[in-house]
Amino acid sequence: MPKIRTGILAATGAVGQRFVQLLENHPWFEITAVAASDNSVGKRYKDAARWFVSPDMPEAVRDMIVLPCEPGMDCDLVFSALPSDVAGPIEEAFAAAGHVVSSNANNHRWDPDVPLLIPEVNPTHLGLIPQQRLRRGWEKGYIITNGNCSTIHLVLVLKPLQDAFGLKKVLVTTMQALSGAGYPGVPSLDITDNIIPFIGGEEKKLETEPLKMLGHFDGEKVINADIVISAHCNRVGTRDGHLEAVSVELVEQPTIEEVIQVFREFKGEPQALNLPSAPVYPIVVRDEPDRPQPRFDRDAERGMASVVGRVRKDPILGYKFLVLGHNTLRGAAGSAILNAELLVAKGYLSLDPDLVKAQTRTALHLPAHIAQEIVAHAREGAPQEICGILAGHNGTITRLYRARNAAENPIVTYNLDPHDQLRILQDIDAHGWDIFGIYHSHPASPAHPSPTDVAQAYYNDSYYLIVSLAQKEPVIRAFKINTNGGQVTEYPVVVE
Ligand code: NAP
Repeated sequence: MPKIRTGILAATGAVGQRFVQLLENHPWFEITAVAASDNSVGKRYKDAARWFVSPDMPEAVRDMIVLPCEPGMDCDLVFSALPSDVAGPIEEAFAAAGHVVSSNANNHRWDPDVPLLIPEVNPTHLGLIPQQRLRRGWEKGYIITNGNCSTIHLVLVLKPLQDAFGLKKVLVTTMQALSGAGYPGVPSLDITDNIIPFIGGEEKKLETEPLKMLGHFDGEKVINADIVISAHCNRVGTRDGHLEAVSVELVEQPTIEEVIQVFREFKGEPQALNLPSAPVYPIVVRDEPDRPQPRFDRDAERGMASVVGRVRKDPILGYKFLVLGHNTLRGAAGSAILNAELLVAKGYLSLDPDLVKAQTRTALHLPAHIAQEIVAHAREGAPQEICGILAGHNGTITRLYRARNAAENPIVTYNLDPHDQLRILQDIDAHGWDIFGIYHSHPASPAHPSPTDVAQAYYNDSYYLIVSLAQKEPVIRAFKINTNGGQVTEYPVVVE
């Protein structure tokens, strides 16, 4: 089934490379054209791009010839990572020529007829598209944009607060990574042993873009949210991941536990629609006193989540916390791709409906009695980790087998007892079933695979279920772990 033919403008830069990386094997989008500046035009992509976002450049693009950023490229959808000094007219030319443009650049963010989109926050703003086409005389093409890299993570955490408690004032101080300045970015002699307390134009973006994103679409226009934001932006010497210290004044006075709860429970359209790039949890809350940290937390949910920590009272505004987000993944290319996936799911960009259905990440359906048994096992075993195996047949769970944990230190890890494992596998074989999943518990930490869990993963096709007892209510999450490289993909769990 054909995928949507996709071009990348400024494909050689820091954000452009992320597009190339994220679109490798994308279920709906296929890269058919790459474009960049005159310096790169005519070269093979492998010679034009100084590849630095992952170990290997995807094979499919290596020999593509880099094109000029002009309409006529062989594609329907265009992702733009153009610098803002050139993006405006180029993106308009593509839209006028019939291309759908999903942009990272700031040029059109404030156009009243252009959605400034975060799919979990303001999907209704897509309603601006028909009038954009009408007003500009564009029959087929149109432009949507994502926000600034710090804004996206700030707004993802402000949205549930706004919805649950009302939002009045926000004070945010950012510590922004080097890759936010593109490649090669800030000179090493400026940033080594230093923090630069200025990033041109950034504070204004943080103070204004959230007002549109959190605004209300009344069917014709977006009415900006009535919020005041003050921002300090700093460049620091981390490689990826912007950290933001945020204080907020709310209309209501919830407890800290209630604030944490709305963060944890926050979900939106991408999760309901199971979009391919959607994080299962758009906000991940860390309980440790010294998290989130860029090095450890920027890749949460494949870099698509905002990671919150240190939620506490603020003596001036009421509440304060830290939020961390990957700047070139959810903060740039990942966002633009998720935006385009929403366009497909909402019918603004056509793709074979069967492909949409077939390739949306499907939820794991967990029978309620199995979920209860996993939780009961975890509670009986706490504070030690417990483990077991789920058998399945034709994608349905048929039986839960408890196993002993043979790890040397079962408080911090698990190891299926080899005798139990053999006995269980023989029984599964005898029934003609297969291994549906392996479950274990995290009595005091979140339900996310630890580095040891990833290193020990053995079954590529089975789910790894983790039950956490760290919060008031037990949480069960499910993952598949690629045993050849350790890539972790989460699957939504539906208990029924
Ligand atoms: P970058 O690493 O400096 O890359 C710049 C890219 O733009 C290169 O591909 C370059 O091509 C191309 N380019 C430069 N001048 C051009 C021209 N006149 N015509 C066509 N292409 C041209 O920058 P970046 O960090 O990827 O940022 C790209 C855009 O994304 C900017 O608008 C930025 O504000 C936005 N953004 C960046 C981040 C981030 O974290 N980095 C986050 C959100 C948004 P050559 O290689 O051929 O020179």
